Amino acid sequence: MQETMISDPHEIWQKTCHELQKLISPDAFRRWFSPIKPISFESGRLVLGVDNSIYPFWIEENYSTQLKESLGLAFGRDVDVTFEVTTGRQHDTENAANDNPVDESAEEGKGSIKTAPAGDLIPRYVFETFVVGANNEFATAAAKAVAESPAKIYNPLFVHGAVGLGKTHLMHAIGHQIVKNKKGGKPPKVVYVTSEQFTNEFITAIQHGEIIKFRKRFRQADLLLIDDIQFFAGKERSQEEFFHTFNALFDGNKQIVLTSDCPPSEVKNLEQRLVSRFEWGLAAELAPPDIETRLAILKAKAAKMDVRLGDGVLTFIAERVKANIRRLEGALNRVAAWAALNDKKLTQAQVEELLKDFIQQEARNALTIETIQKRVAETFDIRMTDMTSKRRPNNIAIPRMIAMYLCRKLTPKSLQEIGEAFGGRDHGTVLHACKKVEADMAKDENLRQQINFLLQKLEVAR
Ligand code: ADP
Ligand code: MG
Repeated sequence: MQETMISDPHEIWQKTCHELQKLISPDAFRRWFSPIKPISFESGRLVLGVDNSIYPFWIEENYSTQLKESLGLAFGRDVDVTFEVTTGRQHDTENAANDNPVDESAEEGKGSIKTAPAGDLIPRYVFETFVVGANNEFATAAAKAVAESPAKIYNPLFVHGAVGLGKTHLMHAIGHQIVKNKKGGKPPKVVYVTSEQFTNEFITAIQHGEIIKFRKRFRQADLLLIDDIQFFAGKERSQEEFFHTFNALFDGNKQIVLTSDCPPSEVKNLEQRLVSRFEWGLAAELAPPDIETRLAILKAKAAKMDVRLGDGVLTFIAERVKANIRRLEGALNRVAAWAALNDKKLTQAQVEELLKDFIQQEARNALTIETIQKRVAETFDIRMTDMTSKRRPNNIAIPRMIAMYLCRKLTPKSLQEIGEAFGGRDHGTVLHACKKVEADMAKDENLRQQINFLLQKLEVAR
């Protein structure tokens, strides 16, 4: 292995292909690698052009080790790869690996090919591609409001929700919109990092005596986006640094947007003074999408891809993959890749077979409304039948509302579905119950603890 300094993307790619052909079947090579066109090679990153977004998905799922190895052999050291969709209807950059380096890459078995450089906004994470449903309506409205009037209404904006529900997407969309809205003058400085990147850069800056440069980078931002702040947990010096960054930007009237997997007050091991700063602005939750939204997301994504899939297939995916939009996309990509290679119509059985692991994963996550009702009834010592009854005394109505709130939080069921399961109540009643419980929790520490305790018990039961 020699340390060569090739900089021509074609040459690197040619050598890589030479190595690759020793590792994978001729058929696989012809199908997945021959059509690839190298685009550029800069600062250790090779950009490869592909016709549609199935390539990065499929290559990442099946050939990432071989590709990495071949690149290493061809170039003499590690090379990052990014795929770019160059033709067809799609003009969209698709990274081979997970877009967001910190979330569930391990779970989805990805992560071997590096993603876009830190600080970059992912081109397809714009408002136009973000499908709005009951689960994200409020958060989307808040994000749009922030993008239209940065630092004027909600500062900071704090978006929270479980993994794969669109936090990063929404956050990038704000960045794109603010850049787009700026007319004349210098373009706004948008800084996007995860809390882990913030921490790492901070440590590196200390080690290299570059703390002033570090501070400048963050404190000169017009818009600061910090993703997944739950990873600040226990990192006291980084929190301290971030606290000062926050204050500097806030005082300078700059917009700050944060995301986390839970509301500000529930982020573990976070200094109280940071929590209270976060509470100055607005917290907006992203809930799991209901069936209509899942279907709408699938339709929008399928329309962008070059493969035609029947409504039946999309409905099947939407029904089965519920808890996480990233997984919803993964399921769609899998089916689309199959359809691209086979002319035959997909049968239900084939779809089931293709998505076996997605479906199994869902089953593992499934927590039923009934289980939640049972646990809440036990905890508050009421009868299970009171969950569906029309009885209104507080000692019954409140636990019932808490159960609705927990169903909303812990299951991907729609408001309608939840209402149905609570004696045929309508979706407005469920929404009202959720809001009331949230408001009560904010006022009543005892209640908050009780509900958190229930939440934990139910999470464990998953
Ligand atoms: P999180 O940061 O909450 O883990 P992401 O923002 O990374 O989630 O979203 C996961 C994937 O799901 C991304 O590819 C994103 O584009 C997609 N996604 C999430 N919400 C939506 C939505 N409402 N409409 C379209 N795509 C969505
Ligand atoms: Mg994210």
